[in-house]
Amino acid sequence: MSTSSIRLFITAPLAHGLPAPGSEAQAHYLANVMRRSVGDPVLLFNGQDGEWHAAISELTRKKVSFTPLTQTRPQTPEPDSWLCFALLKRTKTDLVVEKATELGVACLQPVITLRTQADHVNLERLRAIAIEAAEQCERLAIPTIMAPLTLPALMAKWPENRHLFVADERRTARLVRHTAAPSALLVGPEGGFTDAELVSIDTHPQVTRVSLGAHILRAETAAIAGLALLLATDPPQE
Ligand code: SAH
Repeated sequence: MSTSSIRLFITAPLAHGLPAPGSEAQAHYLANVMRRSVGDPVLLFNGQDGEWHAAISELTRKKVSFTPLTQTRPQTPEPDSWLCFALLKRTKTDLVVEKATELGVACLQPVITLRTQADHVNLERLRAIAIEAAEQCERLAIPTIMAPLTLPALMAKWPENRHLFVADERRTARLVRHTAAPSALLVGPEGGFTDAELVSIDTHPQVTRVSLGAHILRAETAAIAGLALLLATDPPQE
């Protein structure tokens, strides 16, 4: 089996020769699933210190430690775009979290709207999905996943420096497009926003309604396609 690019997110600081502990789950994965040994290489990132080539320096079934050796990629800034999405049924929420992470979202904010059909979310599970997606797609950071907020609570504390693009399928708005400024996309639930919700959101100075095209997209499609449009820009040249 190739010892190629096992890439793991850890929370410890990364610096040359500084021992960095992994989690118990990572010890199990490396020892029992990937059958790795002390001395084998891994790639590590922590969202702050770039990506590092490291060696496994200690490995048991429950404990793993790494020794970072060389930095393979410097930490580069990531687009500052959020996805605020009406909570969907479990598998669709999982899909949105995974795809939004791959696309480069900085923060995922689940929203409870009047027509939201799900009322419970397991944040730890969503965070694990986001970490796995970030490891796979070679991001240098993982998105923040916030606890759900009702739509009024979200708007009551909306940051004044962040523009909010509200996805509205009523075909009267312009297509969403990339902006370099801090931004967010808000997507409604399977049943859409109520008129009252849209009117109330419109009163906020930082809000613009946007279209995602001429078809009525399912909420998970709208979240993924909308983010792709919002984030579509040339990556910074390393
Ligand atoms: N009201 C829709 C159902 C909502 S679609 C219907 O008639 O069936 C779910 C969410 O996806 C919407 O709340 C909206 O935020 C987004 N959406 C779907 N298609 C869209 C489009 N073409 N443009 C903008 N947003 C869209």
